[in-house]
Amino acid sequence: MKTPEDDFAVERERMVERQLEPRGINDPRVLAAFRTVPRHRFLPPDMAHAAYADHPLPIGEGQTISQPYMVALMTQCMEVRPGDRVLEIGTGSGYQAAILAELGAEVYTIERIASLSERSGELLDALGYGTVRLRVGDGTLGWPEAAPFDGIIVTAGAPRVPEPLVGQLAEGGRLVIPVGGGWSQDLIVVRKAGGRLTEEEVCGCVFVPLLGKHGWNK
Ligand code: SAM
Repeated sequence: MKTPEDDFAVERERMVERQLEPRGINDPRVLAAFRTVPRHRFLPPDMAHAAYADHPLPIGEGQTISQPYMVALMTQCMEVRPGDRVLEIGTGSGYQAAILAELGAEVYTIERIASLSERSGELLDALGYGTVRLRVGDGTLGWPEAAPFDGIIVTAGAPRVPEPLVGQLAEGGRLVIPVGGGWSQDLIVVRKAGGRLTEEEVCGCVFVPLLGKHGWNK
């Protein structure tokens, strides 16, 4: 007999085929992670039916889970290899952290809102992603004790690239971050190679604000 989980699996496959592949998400490992992680579990129960729609959704506390395509694009830009140490700023629902864990990364994630972090931690444990390390605090300061990171992903819009995050990036590392104004930003990838930093602009995007010492004031 067909279960609701079977229906969600069909929707997940459709999300990959209709929203991700046609827009240039072509890393097979990234696509496999999106086929595996049950996005509907990261939403409040009354929103689960919309989990695989092509837009961001509310997760409570005035915050959002990003559009599947944006999560996939940022993940692809991170070029995660198994065993990479990666830092996420903005745990939110925990979905992006699960995708990174599914790719075999050692994941550290920081969220400023304690209730979101707590809920995500419980869910990640329940889904078998219990190795993800969570912290409540100002992610613009990074996680110095766990640095350097092969990848850093900021899932909130910043006025500029936070200095501490650049400092915590490993040689050869990638920092993926939306930078710009309060209403819209550019997604950029900062790479550290040979001691030099290069910056690539990927596309325009819209994120909730990154609040903190090296972000926006409250
Ligand atoms: N990555 C999340 C997911 O997969 O559901 C979506 C993140 S949501 C678009 C942005 C998150 O960044 C919010 O939960 C917000 O509270 C958090 N945030 C904003 N400023 C922050 C900061 N300085 N440190 C940590 N988290 C922050």
